[in-house]
Amino acid sequence: MALQRPKGTQDHLPDGSPKLSRDVQASAFRHVQNTAQRVLERAGAQFINTPLFEEAELVKRGVGGSTDIVRKEMFTVYYFGDHGGYVLRPEGTASIVRAYLQNGLKQLPAPLKLWTHGPMFRAENVQKLRLRQFHQVDYEVLGSEGPLVDAEAIWLMWEVVRELGLTGVRVKLGSIGDPEDREAYNAYLRELFTPQLERLSGDSQDRLTRNPMRILDSKSAEDQALIRELDVRPMLDFLGEEARAHFEAVQRYLSVWDVPFDVDPGIVRGLDYYRRTAWELHHEGIGAKSALGGGGRYDGLAEQLGGAAVPGIGWAFGIERVLGALEAEGAAFPETGGPLLFLAAMDEENVGLAARVALQGRRVARVEFAYRALKPGNAFKEADRRRARLAAIIGSDEAARGVLNVKDLASGEQREVPFAELNTFLAEQV
Ligand code: AMP
Repeated sequence: MALQRPKGTQDHLPDGSPKLSRDVQASAFRHVQNTAQRVLERAGAQFINTPLFEEAELVKRGVGGSTDIVRKEMFTVYYFGDHGGYVLRPEGTASIVRAYLQNGLKQLPAPLKLWTHGPMFRAENVQKLRLRQFHQVDYEVLGSEGPLVDAEAIWLMWEVVRELGLTGVRVKLGSIGDPEDREAYNAYLRELFTPQLERLSGDSQDRLTRNPMRILDSKSAEDQALIRELDVRPMLDFLGEEARAHFEAVQRYLSVWDVPFDVDPGIVRGLDYYRRTAWELHHEGIGAKSALGGGGRYDGLAEQLGGAAVPGIGWAFGIERVLGALEAEGAAFPETGGPLLFLAAMDEENVGLAARVALQGRRVARVEFAYRALKPGNAFKEADRRRARLAAIIGSDEAARGVLNVKDLASGEQREVPFAELNTFLAEQV
């Protein structure tokens, strides 16, 4: 058997491919990226690109040493003259904050809105819509801490999926307070869970010492049963005055802007640098457990990376998950169409001429040509197969007179167009 792609990766395929599904359709990916670009750039976001691999230390500090991502799912990069300290990025936020600090972007007007899209890498147990290389659209706002920035970020995420035509999306909104609120909550959780240590999963026993809040995030059924049994109070009960006012302001904005959301006390982000607003987008079509995307405020991250304090907030959604949700809703996608014009020559000596006329036409529209001489019947068949709207065949008569006989393949209508007027004619058709 020929070589295969690595497990947990996908090829993004052209339209018409025999093994096509939405989550691997290259044009569907582009449609999501283009929609995000339109929505985000209208809000003033600028595109940023960072490397696909980073120092392991950045990811460790940025994502958190106690997370599954860092402990179990990192792809380490080795090369000759081994450095060994690079990893493929598992998410975009740490890289963008690093780039902000390293490149002096603080000098740009705040809030600075940045966005990107691209592949992320996590060595996960592969399932449907849980991949080792997946793709995210990522939006980050740096340099501003007011609740209006948070509400706008959530609105933008909502707006991207709404523009894509998704209807069954729920925003789950929470707050994880300020560091001192979290300390109080962690102390409460420690007190609650320590007598139950034996009943916690191995991972959660570990979390109890490192970061008790992450127990609530556990995927283990026994942990979840224990959490229910103990009737654990939510983080929201522990919000300080300022964090509570911030949370309420975010909710007020969202209500006025008609973004439907549910306050979900179960939203926890256990990392130290997260502050206040946190949310997830869910869709029933891809299963309750897998989020479409998530976001949060991370005012402590820049300092965690060794830089000056810079408030920040951001979100990311998985493009495969969004495509899966669109598929589940039976949403329509814009198809990549065919060329406006397909050109063929009837005899070998005019193949080059047909190509030349096509190259000229490409200044205004998509024009393709046949690479060998075709009989008229075959030329029209070929034009149909390529889903062209117009077709023209160049024979010795057309070549001598410098004209094309352009046929509209839907109506059958024909029209003579001199080579010199082709681009004006094509411009009228697009
Ligand atoms: P996270 O950075 O874990 O909050 O992930 C943000 C979003 O990226 C998730 O809500 C998913 O949509 C997507 N995502 C994360 N991990 C994967 C994965 N292994 N496969 C596909 N999508 C993923």
